[in-house]
Amino acid sequence: MHKSLRIAAVATVCAVAGGALYGAGAATAGQSTANSTHEPYNIGLLVKDIDTYYGTAADANGVYQASPTSPYAKDLASVDKAARKYIDQAARKAHHRGEKPAVVFDIDDTLLLSLDYEKRYNYTYNATTWADYVNRADRPAVFGSPELVQYAEKKGVEVFYNSGLSEAQRSAAVENLKKIGADVNLDTDHVFLKDKANPPSYLSACATPGTWTCTTVQYKSGTRAHIEKDLGYEIIANFGDQYSDLDGGYADRTYKLPNPTYFVS
Ligand SMILES: [Mg+2]
Repeated sequence: MHKSLRIAAVATVCAVAGGALYGAGAATAGQSTANSTHEPYNIGLLVKDIDTYYGTAADANGVYQASPTSPYAKDLASVDKAARKYIDQAARKAHHRGEKPAVVFDIDDTLLLSLDYEKRYNYTYNATTWADYVNRADRPAVFGSPELVQYAEKKGVEVFYNSGLSEAQRSAAVENLKKIGADVNLDTDHVFLKDKANPPSYLSACATPGTWTCTTVQYKSGTRAHIEKDLGYEIIANFGDQYSDLDGGYADRTYKLPNPTYFVS
């Protein structure tokens, strides 16, 4: 995740209220743009809405968890149901055509839920506390996502991971994915993480050793292009919680998982 590009909901609303971004915010996919003639939604109410959406509650260890009966869980279940039906059909067609079907999953808030971090820090972001949180490798699953990974594998679909986490976070990410049961293809050939110091040659349009200018969309779509063009897979579906996970092509279908807690451009 880019720290500079990751816009926490609270920080954004505060900046808008302060006037710095008023009327100048860029329109974002699926989001309305604040303007000078409309008071933004109240931040206190928004936080309450988000708590209700996730059914957020602290467990016995004081860790904020989402409820499996929450609206969030229901929304995920409907995405999962549609995705399973599609993967089954698309995998059959691809195999029939002699193609190698693949699916791509983002990691943060697509497989590993960061709700405890977001709630604890009131939906703000700090590189140090975030890195500590990731390195604990103890995030719970996004409901249904590990099962979806396993389902794709069972249908003969190659599973890849495409994440903005850095190479330095690889062992924690892999450990955490194993822990939640997304224990499929967790090797370096399938888990693509950001290597700013030594970017792969297929990202040469925006990154060379020592120079990284890739946007999230360039990084993620460039990685999918590599999976299709260089590795020879047909990406039938791409799963992410941010539009920047999904834009830029190289997937037959995209599935947007809900995440109202931050925006990554
Ligand atoms: Mg994500």
